[in-house]
Order: sequence, then structure tokens, then C-alpha cells
Amino acid sequence: MGAYLMNNYGNRTLSLVKGEGRYVWDSEGRRYLDALTGIAVCGLGHSHPAVSKTIAEQAATLSHVSNYFRIPQQESLAEKLCSVSSMEKVFFSNSGAEANEAAIKLTRLYAREKGIAEPTVVVMENCFHGRTMATLSATWGEKVRKGFDPLVEKFVHVPYNDVDAVANLGSDESVVAVMVEPVQGEAGINIPAPDYLQKLRQVCDKHGWLLILDEIQTGNGRSGEYFAAKLSGVLPDIITTAKGLGNGVPIGACLARGIAADLFGPGSHGSTYGGNPLVCAAANTVFDVIREEQLTRRATQLGKKLQTGFVANLSDYSAVKEVRNLGLLLAIELDRDCSELYGQAIEAGLLLNVTGGNRIRLLPALNTTDAEADELLDRLCTLIKD
Ligand code: PLP
Repeated sequence: MGAYLMNNYGNRTLSLVKGEGRYVWDSEGRRYLDALTGIAVCGLGHSHPAVSKTIAEQAATLSHVSNYFRIPQQESLAEKLCSVSSMEKVFFSNSGAEANEAAIKLTRLYAREKGIAEPTVVVMENCFHGRTMATLSATWGEKVRKGFDPLVEKFVHVPYNDVDAVANLGSDESVVAVMVEPVQGEAGINIPAPDYLQKLRQVCDKHGWLLILDEIQTGNGRSGEYFAAKLSGVLPDIITTAKGLGNGVPIGACLARGIAADLFGPGSHGSTYGGNPLVCAAANTVFDVIREEQLTRRATQLGKKLQTGFVANLSDYSAVKEVRNLGLLLAIELDRDCSELYGQAIEAGLLLNVTGGNRIRLLPALNTTDAEADELLDRLCTLIKD
């Protein structure tokens, strides 16, 4: 039972062995409706036929070559990501944390250009940016950081959804960038005011700071646009993404425009696997399916259906404080700890996640059918009522 695995994920009991569409199966043959999708990864559901076909064909053709060579799949994916985001250049990584690591390295190079020796990056309370040394230093909270001192220095945390708190740092000449999630995912789907990013953009423009949007969880159609930046009409300097980009193959990306797009030069950053033919072929297909099947629009529709469904079903239950969503980033916040709901949901054939003790987080697939959404509503409402 995993005796040779390090214990960083704790005790895991459920063993999932197969997935198809919005369902996964355990080793005993039990079926689960997956409303977690590997934490916002499998936006197209499991074993999507077009993605599986691409992976099989690419694996049989060429899985990996070094980044010493041109990789056509990488070039076409970069072009697609830039066209949908109005960014100009892309660096491919293997994960979200590494995409953010690249963004943080860009802030250092930007500081050099500005003659700032010890640059500060503004980040938000309750944020999550990853678990490498730099990204855990940027991340809020003891849970992620405990035991890892000395941290990477010069991240300053301010309250989320508080533009003044950022603007108040205007006199600090060491600040070079603001890094923010359009919606805080790990914190339990914290959705800021609709004009928050716009106002942050204005503050960044005023002081010459880079605006970095961490779209690792919000990106790839989940918010109702390909990137949530578009929903707020904001053009950041850098967007990072991962998770839904590859629907399960390990790929992340750091997209940049303007001065930030040209800061890396030959040798200044890299990754052996980053953007290899296999993962880029898969991600190209994922991107095409999201576009062809209009899954951003579907994310908006489904998010609305689920949000109104939960509100209608649970309105008599005072334990339910709020049901909130942006597209298919959903949370049901209770007035009490409901950590045990995670295990109870598994018993009931449903995969979800509880963050912060009292927030039920749902990240269903973008191509969930109406019948599957009704099944999710039914099962979860019953559990919450019980
Ligand atoms: N940033 C955000 C907003 C995330 O939600 C996550 C993962 O949950 C990360 C960064 C880290 O991504 P990864 O686990 O792929 O390194």
C-alpha cells in the first residue's frame, strides 16, 4: 500500500484505475461522478477520444526531443495561446509551479533592466502559486511554507480584492510586479469585484509594474473565457497556465507580452521536458476541442445551471452561507466545518474537494452533460442536507 512512497500526500485509500467522460472507476469496479477532474485538469473529461488518439499517434511517432531543436507542435500551440490571449511569446514548462517560477524569474530580469537590485513582487493573502521554493514563498500561509525556511525573499502579501492595499505600495521603489489569481482557487473560489483586475492594471501602469495573472486554475476555458483576463477586459503582461492545458499530460506555460516577452535570452531559462512533442500535441488537440465544441460558452451555461440549482435546492438550509461561481469554478460555503464530506461523497459515488474546512469546491468537466449536472446537483444536495 504505497510503502515506498514519501508521505507528502498522506493516507490515500481510494485507488482509481479507469476514466471515461465525466466518470472514473476504482479498482473494485465502483463508478464515481468526477466533479474534481484531477483539480481542474481534465476539462474535457477522462480518456477524451480525440486527445487519446493524438497521444497514441504522437507517442508512436516522436515523444521527445531536446529543446535544442525546433518542435512544430510547440510552435503551433504557442501561436494558438498567443492569439487567444493577445500575448506575444510563450515558455513551456511541465507544471503550474514551474510556469510561475518562469514568471518570477522574468520579474528579476525586469528589475535588472530597471536597475533595481532587490526587487519586490506583490502577492495576495490566501493566494496559492505552487510548491517550488520561489512559488511557495509567494504562496500565503503556514500550511505550504512551514519547515522550508529560508524562503525566497521579497514577496509582500496584501489583502485580496483590495486595490488600495496595492496602490499604497506605490512609494516602494523596489516593487516590480503584482502577481494575482483572477479567482483564488485553492482558497475556496474567492471571486473579487468585477473591476478588481482593471484597477490593478491601472496601478501597475502608473508605476511601471508588471501585472502577472496566475491562470493555472482559471485558464483553459473554465472561467467562461479561454482566460479569465478577457472577462475583465484586462491585458496583463504575463499569464501563467497549466492544469487544463493538457487535460492530464504534464504541461504548463508562461505567456508574456511587451517588454516581458523579450527578457529571456538563449540559456537564461529552460527545461528538458518543457513543451516536448508529446505534451504539445496533446495540448493542441485540447485547445482545438475547447474551441470547436464552444466549451467556454458551455462552462458559463453549466456554471449558471449548477449555481442556481444549488441555491434553489439549499435555500432552506441555514448552514449554507453562499454558493458562488465563475464559470465552472464553484464553491458552496457552509457555516461549519464539513471536511468529512469529502469521504462521505466518495461513499456516495462522487468526487469533490473541501478547502479551508468549510468550502465544498467543484471543478467539473467543461463538457458535462445536463443529465450529469443534474446528477451532481442531486447527489451533493442530498449529502449536504444529510
Ligand atoms: N497556481 C494556482 C492558482 C494553482 O491552483 C496551482 C495548483 O493548484 C498552482 C499554481 C501550482 O500548479 P502545479 O501543482 O501544477 O505546480
